Amino acid sequence: MRIQENISLKPYNTFGIDAKAKYFSTFSSVDELEECLNYKLQTTNLPIGQAGHKLILGGGSNILFSKDFNGLVLKNELKGIDLIKEDEHHYFVKAAAGENWHQFVLYCIKRNYAGVENLSLIPGNVGASPMQNIGAYGVEIKEVFEQLEAYHINDKKPVTFTTNDCEFGYRESVFKRKYKYQFVILNVTFRLNKHPIFHTSYGAVEQELEKMEVKELSIQAISQAVINIRSSKLPDPKQIGNAGSFFKNPEIDNHQFQALKQRFPKIVGYPVANNKTKLAAGWLIEQCGWKGYREGDAGCHARQALVLVNYGNAKGEEIYNLSEKILHSVKEKFGVVLEREVNII
Ligand SMILES: Cc1cc2nc3c(=O)[nH]c(=O)nc-3n(C[C@H](O)[C@H](O)[C@H](O)COP(=O)(O)OP(=O)(O)OC[C@H]3O[C@@H](n4cnc5c(N)ncnc54)[C@H](O)[C@@H]3O)c2cc1C
Repeated sequence: MRIQENISLKPYNTFGIDAKAKYFSTFSSVDELEECLNYKLQTTNLPIGQAGHKLILGGGSNILFSKDFNGLVLKNELKGIDLIKEDEHHYFVKAAAGENWHQFVLYCIKRNYAGVENLSLIPGNVGASPMQNIGAYGVEIKEVFEQLEAYHINDKKPVTFTTNDCEFGYRESVFKRKYKYQFVILNVTFRLNKHPIFHTSYGAVEQELEKMEVKELSIQAISQAVINIRSSKLPDPKQIGNAGSFFKNPEIDNHQFQALKQRFPKIVGYPVANNKTKLAAGWLIEQCGWKGYREGDAGCHARQALVLVNYGNAKGEEIYNLSEKILHSVKEKFGVVLEREVNII
C-alpha cells in the first residue's frame, strides 16, 4: 500500500475535474484494501467508513467532484475474469470489480456468452455496474446478475448479495441508498445465456442493424450496432469531459402526465409500471432552453441536453451550480423534479 497525498483527481474522473484528494491509493487485493481501510487519516477522527472520508473509485465515469476530497480515495484495481460454472442454459462468469466493463463485455461476446451485448461501450468498471444497475438499449444488468461479493467496511468481512438483496431499480440499488458508503464491491457473478435472447426493439438498434445490412442476427452484430450508435451519438469523455446522462428520466403519475400533455402536446413520455409515465429528461431540459448553453467551461451538450460537459477547466462546483439551475427551471416550467444520476461528491 502506498498512500499518496494531495493528488489531482483529474485523470481519474471522466468529467476531467481537477479536484484534489487529500490521500489517494490503489488496491489490487482484499488484503491491500483492508490495509487501506485501516489507515488512520490525519485530517479526521471520524470512524473508518464514515461517508465522505473513504471513497471507492472505479473508472470515475459516474461521479462529479464538486470540491476537493478531504479523505482517502481508494482506486479499485482488483482484476480477473473466470468462468466458474455452467449448466444447460447458462454460463456463470465471475468478474473482479476493477475490470473495465467494456472489456468484460468483449470477453463475453468473443466466447458467445449472451446477455450483455446491448450494454457494450458503457464506460467504467464492473464493480460499479450494480451500483446503479447500469442499463442501455432495453437491457439492465439485473437481467444477467447472479450475485456479488462486497466487503463490509465496519464489520470487516465480505458479504454475498443476491438479486433480491440488491433491490435493483431504474439506475438504483441498495448501494446507492441504504448501504451507501458501507460496502466495497469486490466481484460480480453474471448469469449469461447459452441461447441468446436478442433485444433489438429499441428503434436506434433496429435501424443501425438495417444500415449494417446484417443478414443473421447475433450478439456480435448487436454489440457492433450499439458501439456504432454510441460512438456517433454520445460525447467521448476523451474529447470533452462528461459523465453521460447527468439526470435520470423522471417518472410521474399518469394523471400528471395527461395534464402536462394538455399544456405541452409534444411532451415525450413512455408508460411504465404502477400507473406511471417515464418522461424524457433531455426533452424537458431542451424545452427550458439549456441545450448548447455554456457558462465559462461548464455547459449543456449541444446535441444531448441530458449530458453536462466540461469544456476544459470547469470546476466541479460550476457544473453542479449549472445542474441546480437546470433543476429549478424544469421544476418551474413543468412542475417535475429531476433527480441527478451522477454521484455528487
Ligand atoms: C459517455 C458516458 C456514457 C454513459 N452511458 C451510460 C449508460 O448508457 N448507462 C448507464 O447505466 N450508465 C452510463 N454511464 C455512467 C457510467 O458509465 C456507469 O454508471 C458506470 O457503471 C460507472 O462506473 P465507474 O467504474 O466509472 O464508477 P465511478 O464513477 O468510479 O463510481 C460511481 C459510484 O460508485 C461507487 N463505486 C464504484 N466502484 C465501487 C465499488 N467497487 N464498490 C463500492 N462502490 C463503488 C463510487 O464511490 C461512486 O459513488 C455513462 C457515462 C459516460 C461518461
